[in-house]
Amino acid sequence: MKFSILSESFNKMESTTKRTELTQFLVELFEETRHDIISKIVYLIQGKLRPDFEGVELGVADRLAIRAISKSSGIPTKNIQEEYRKSGDLGHASSVILEQKTQTTFLAQDITVQRVYDTLLKIAGLGGSRSQDMKIKYISSLLNDATPLEARFILKILLGTLRLGIAENTVMDALAIAFTGSKENRKQLQYAYNVSSDLGRVAETVATKGLEGIEKFEIKLFNPIRPMLADRVKSEDEAVEKMGSEFAAEYKLDGERVQLHIEGEKVVLFSRSLERIESYYPDIVEKIPKNIQAENIILEAEAVAVNEDTGEFLPFQELMHRRRKYKIKEAVTKYPITVNFFDILYCNDKSCAELDYAKRRERLEKFVKEDEFARYIPMSIVRNKNEIEDFMENSINAGSEGLMLKSLEKPYQAGSRGSHWLKLKREYRNELGDSLDLVVIGGFFGKGRRKGRYGALLLGTYDDENDTFPSICKVGTGFSDESLDQIYQILHPKVVIKRDPRIISEMEADVWFEPELVIEVVASEITLSPIHKAATDAIRKDAGLALRFPKFTGKVRVEKAVEDASTNEEVIALYRGQKKAAHERNRM
Ligand code: ATP
Repeated sequence: MKFSILSESFNKMESTTKRTELTQFLVELFEETRHDIISKIVYLIQGKLRPDFEGVELGVADRLAIRAISKSSGIPTKNIQEEYRKSGDLGHASSVILEQKTQTTFLAQDITVQRVYDTLLKIAGLGGSRSQDMKIKYISSLLNDATPLEARFILKILLGTLRLGIAENTVMDALAIAFTGSKENRKQLQYAYNVSSDLGRVAETVATKGLEGIEKFEIKLFNPIRPMLADRVKSEDEAVEKMGSEFAAEYKLDGERVQLHIEGEKVVLFSRSLERIESYYPDIVEKIPKNIQAENIILEAEAVAVNEDTGEFLPFQELMHRRRKYKIKEAVTKYPITVNFFDILYCNDKSCAELDYAKRRERLEKFVKEDEFARYIPMSIVRNKNEIEDFMENSINAGSEGLMLKSLEKPYQAGSRGSHWLKLKREYRNELGDSLDLVVIGGFFGKGRRKGRYGALLLGTYDDENDTFPSICKVGTGFSDESLDQIYQILHPKVVIKRDPRIISEMEADVWFEPELVIEVVASEITLSPIHKAATDAIRKDAGLALRFPKFTGKVRVEKAVEDASTNEEVIALYRGQKKAAHERNRM
């Protein structure tokens, strides 16, 4: 397929934010695509080369791209930088530059999607001292044969700035329409995606084998499964109402969720957002295989920092000291952990996900041997409010943050948040009832003691319908000196000249960031707002929702992707929940 077809399609997609139109453009593109490259097209649409869990990163910096454009066009880097400053978008700048050049030269040959993809993959694989020169060579040779429009999108993919605003659900809708004739079949594709976490593979399968192929999707060892998530409840009463007469209660530990895939000595660890994390946990990789009494296994656990002397669980922040590139050995000794298993999804070449909770727990205890380092998450079968309260008390005393309540008869539902798992946190009983995980979209320079750092941050929710980040509050409290430094270090390199179009904000920040960081905040209330944009029109026309007295909890949620941040729906539910609570208080 010619790359020009793809770039023209991208160009159309960039010009709309309407989901129905985007779906239509995708359907047209998929119908034109040869089946052997459809997975590549699906990755490219998302600005990727491979599924996230493979960790293939292009890692091309602006400076290097400018040198490549200069090499291919013969135009000095100074002029390219000037053009870049004007538009704030290097992809656009390169198309303007090449526009000038193509007026005087002939294009050598048409470039194909296959060639662009292969070259990008080669670039991603380059490392070491000579890699810069090689990258420039590869990029400029592509640009030599590219039209200005093609160059624009090649550059955007290389720099990680392709933003077509297409959510995964939209891709699946379009695949269902193009290859099965009906959007209704999205459900099956969703299942295949949940167990494989690989939209490219789902696309290729439905294109070549139809729904029959999709139905054969199974959990595979070393291929991460999208995690099952929990709904929140505010009280023991609400939990009993939703769960019925008998269910499991487990400690809700405050650590990092880890999905372990193990066969013999081979151990692969995935985070909640399905990134590889073996490098942070060499102790898990080394020690856990000897606890496994099966040929192969997939498990879920919460890794938690512990006080080695008392065995007490320590808060999440302690564990985050492990998230570093260097001196890992030192961190492993200084911040010891335990691995607390709560689920089993696969064992001896077979999936266990469709078994009910009780059977899964039984298998977990059969195939994993406990010791000081590897533990089962404490669990108790509960029947009523009093029993939940008693277990909650134990859980809090042990240093955990509350309980997870799980239905005994239900299977593991990959990738879905539902009422078969509920979370009941201790602090749910006060004020808003829950913390929110919000995306940092803008920054305000600090004054006085905070000079030289960001004194306040502009935060947004994730609007998963439109793939945007509408603002919800400006937060300036809850920051320690240490956290201000840490946040400045993380955010400073993410400053962009031009605001990402997915950021929806009327409030003007001093700087705008590439939306990548998620932090946790609490607040006293959610109010209607004329300024903030979260859930605009959902409660009242032309009004958004905002947090009142927001406060940073100290948690930078590095394990969360921006797509995992609190959504508009969650904020609306919290808003409605507080209304209902106030109504009930007034009646008493
Ligand atoms: P999400 O619900 O989207 O995961 P979150 O990370 O903010 O969002 P939490 O309120 O922290 O959600 O609750 C869910 C998380 O709790 C899980 O992802 C997991 O990391 C952790 N967890 C702790 N104990 C358990 C347990 N016993 N069972 C399942 N998850 C647990």
